[in-house]
Amino acid sequence: MYNPKSRKAEEFICHEEIMDTLAYADEHKDDLPLIRQILDKAAQKKGLDHREASVLLACEDETIVQEIYGMAEQFKKDFYGNRIVMFAPLYLSNYCVNGCVYCPYHLKNKHIARKKLTQEEIRREVIALQDMGHKRLALEAGEDPVNNPIEYILESIKTIYSVHHKNGDTRRVNVNIAATTVEEYKMLKDAGIGTYILFQETYHKESYEKLHPTGPKHNYAYHTEAHDRAMEAGIDDVGLGVLFGLELYRYELAGLLMHAEHLEAVFGVGPHTISVPRVRPADDVDPEDFDAGVDGGLTDDLFAKIIAIIRIAVPYTGMIMSTRESQEMRARALHLGISQISGASKTSVGGYDSPEPEEENSAQFEIDDNRTLDEVVKWLIDMDYIPSFCTACYREGRTGDRFMSLCKSGQILNCCHPNALMTLKEYLVDYASEETREAGEALIARELPNIPKDKVRQIAEQYIKEIEDGKRDFRF
Ligand code: SF4
Ligand code: SF4
Repeated sequence: MYNPKSRKAEEFICHEEIMDTLAYADEHKDDLPLIRQILDKAAQKKGLDHREASVLLACEDETIVQEIYGMAEQFKKDFYGNRIVMFAPLYLSNYCVNGCVYCPYHLKNKHIARKKLTQEEIRREVIALQDMGHKRLALEAGEDPVNNPIEYILESIKTIYSVHHKNGDTRRVNVNIAATTVEEYKMLKDAGIGTYILFQETYHKESYEKLHPTGPKHNYAYHTEAHDRAMEAGIDDVGLGVLFGLELYRYELAGLLMHAEHLEAVFGVGPHTISVPRVRPADDVDPEDFDAGVDGGLTDDLFAKIIAIIRIAVPYTGMIMSTRESQEMRARALHLGISQISGASKTSVGGYDSPEPEEENSAQFEIDDNRTLDEVVKWLIDMDYIPSFCTACYREGRTGDRFMSLCKSGQILNCCHPNALMTLKEYLVDYASEETREAGEALIARELPNIPKDKVRQIAEQYIKEIEDGKRDFRF
């Protein structure tokens, strides 16, 4: 029944296969020769399948766990260096016809403020985001064919790309909207979106149906097969994610990796990104309600272990962590594999341009990291990371398998590294506080010599000078 190449959700995310995998993992969690074999395979950077990853997750041997952390850190350095890509979510509308019990936007929640931005309000939001320094946005909207039809989303994307405030620019709009048809995905592709991101929430079908009791999202197969339809429509970069804390985390890790294996098997390219959100408190939502007993409780340590295992299982996939997590958890996760984080996020509709009064709360969840973008940028620099506002691949047409071949060719240091330094330079000149600018300039001076190719390094140095003189938007 399990068939990674099948186009049917219940065959490529096969419940029996996951249950067998978890039993196999329990049986082998102390099988050190097998675990050694799995780690040796992982060390070759060829990835791990869901069974192998599940054995590692089940293994509690402290030496092995430390080895997993060490390998994840090494992979992070090898593939992503010390660059961290920055983004911000932009909430367009919180009207939603679904009944997701973990989200305050669910239809039956009558006390949350419902808002939908007009195009003029979107312009103001984008200006506020550009004035902070953001270049990469993740567009969010509830599912509502009347209030948020595809035409509204498309018009909003056009508005976002059209705003250029001072030196500001939105260079990549990733889209996180409900599962839809091939036809509508084609429209999104034509609108120039970056990644299409859709979280599965949970791969456990029975729980999925309970957590989504009403609305179109109730349909597990339609939701789970959405990435296939997006790819069929020509969207090369798709993002996966589960909402950790909803179901048994071991089940979710196996399901998530099976989903990645499925995309690779059918389309020849795995997910562009994997996000690792955890349930957060929000209006009408208490994370304790979803703690599925002892085995379901996801401590920070287990969460870190999952992040490390994903890193070594899918080394070429970017990993995203939002401001749902605290500064401490984010710092830990950056070491273990996270390559992209949000900064200064607002999860309310219209929250960037005008902070909303408490009685008008429209937020999807509470944020744990409330710092400004400048503070996050400075924090990263102080830890020797390069905050990157790079969007070059998408704009150069390096998406899908072309992006993957860039990763696999080892040319990332000659590409991402100078792009990170040039976009950081733009940020420092246009938006940074004096303190951040000073620290950032020192970092750029330290990092320029790390570009391996002489020619690329010289061009990057030249471009950085030109940015000081007012030119913008250089990229490799
Ligand atoms: S998770 Fe998405 S689909 Fe579900 S209620 Fe919230 S906004 Fe609507
Ligand atoms: S060059 Fe491509 S892979 Fe590298 S940071 Fe920029 S967009 Fe990402």
